[in-house]
Amino acid sequence: MQTRFNSELSRRSLLGAGMALGGLTLAGCASTASGPSIGRVVVVGGGFGGATAARYLKMWGGNIDVTLVERNPNFISCPISNLVLGGHKQMADISRGYGGLKALGVKVVQGDVTAVDAAGKKVRLAGGAELPYDRLIVSPGIDFMFEQVGGLQAAVDSGRIAHSWKAGPQTVALRKQLEAMPDGGVFAMSIPKVPYRCPPGPYERACMVASYLKTAKPKSKVLVLDGNPEIQSKKALFERAFRDHYSGIIEYRANAELKEVSGLTAKLEFEDVKADVLNVIPPQRAGDLARSAGLINVNNRWAGVDWLTMESTAVKGVHVLGDATFPAPLMPKSGHMANQHAKVAAAAIISLLKGEAVNATPVVMNTCYSFVTASDVVHVASVHQYDAKDKTFKTVPGSGGVSAAASQLEGRYALSWADNIWNDMLNA
Ligand SMILES: Cc1cc2nc3c(=O)[nH]c(=O)nc-3n(C[C@H](O)[C@H](O)[C@H](O)COP(=O)(O)OP(=O)(O)OC[C@H]3O[C@@H](n4cnc5c(N)ncnc54)[C@H](O)[C@@H]3O)c2cc1C
Repeated sequence: MQTRFNSELSRRSLLGAGMALGGLTLAGCASTASGPSIGRVVVVGGGFGGATAARYLKMWGGNIDVTLVERNPNFISCPISNLVLGGHKQMADISRGYGGLKALGVKVVQGDVTAVDAAGKKVRLAGGAELPYDRLIVSPGIDFMFEQVGGLQAAVDSGRIAHSWKAGPQTVALRKQLEAMPDGGVFAMSIPKVPYRCPPGPYERACMVASYLKTAKPKSKVLVLDGNPEIQSKKALFERAFRDHYSGIIEYRANAELKEVSGLTAKLEFEDVKADVLNVIPPQRAGDLARSAGLINVNNRWAGVDWLTMESTAVKGVHVLGDATFPAPLMPKSGHMANQHAKVAAAAIISLLKGEAVNATPVVMNTCYSFVTASDVVHVASVHQYDAKDKTFKTVPGSGGVSAAASQLEGRYALSWADNIWNDMLNA
């Protein structure tokens, strides 16, 4: 059965790839690596957007020089990382190498891009090396607006508070804090006002932490301090999960915006909340590189793009993907969506390098699964079509939707989704 699910979902991810091209077939796009290079593309960021772009540029463009620069030695996935917090998965389960991309001919450079010289068409790495490009892709994810919560930067720097909103050492740190928490302790988590990456992620985290405490430390509490007026995604499904599985463990409070942290006390507007473990998800903006490269031009926070090519509306020749972008209406900041942005950008860049017209009718899609217990999962899905009149993506009426109820079947789909998207981006 597992094989059938995997192959079904593999077919779906291929369909997703085809949809991003708005109907072009994979065969129609394939080219071989023979002949002279048609151009040099540098991709910064080996996460969901950047790694996918590097792979699809190579797969569809063939004879393009593709260099991927990523500061970390391996990819560590945020999706499924909440299960590590719950003790249901290990870090090794969410970690993958870049070997598959290297095998395709992508030059993978471990390094930190410190500057973009858009006029000179080159990027500079820490250490001084420079990489020239014809087209640049930037998919740096998010960075945090620590200045919006008093005391937070120092608390995270000291290790007292973990955000765990970038998977890796932060995930390990929060899991250790949970393991060390006494039975009867309070785990408080703070959710920032939207927009933040992965709208359902915090509520999944509450469920995963509660699932661990329910068996390992049953006298403990999970206090969800939401800066928003209500649950931001799959509301009825999460409310039901809180009620059915974690009654007496999870307490949800709306309009509880965090102003300051002091020790392990969360200071809200009208009250102080003392915790044994305090997990703060900080307010977010496009990653630092987007800021230093002058790509942020919406609300002093996000990068505006031309949705047909993902080219920045601020800096020519630079394409921005994923969480760093100012989203189209109802478009979530998700790994799945970053993967779809990457396919639009890869197809457009190949056309631009060849002097051909770009696809004028792209379609992208998103599915986001959330674990409410170690095995039961709910999903939300949407399809977004380019609207030429308003020059943005709009959701297709009647497409998508949410689960009727949590199920183990969706739990299997969710794990297959993760495997398939990691394979799709990393050629793993
Ligand atoms: C707990 C949690 C659960 C989630 N669950 C889901 C889910 O179930 N489904 C889903 O679709 N999405 C999920 N997401 C959201 C998803 O992780 C993000 O939307 C996705 O990672 C965005 O991709 P990206 O390419 O924009 O950024 P990222 O994947 O963050 O990649 C950015 C990369 O750029 C690198 N980088 C940044 N700056 C530089 C630089 N200057 N030089 C070199 N490298 C640089 C970083 O190291 C990083 O590897 C979840 C997120 C969280 C936090």
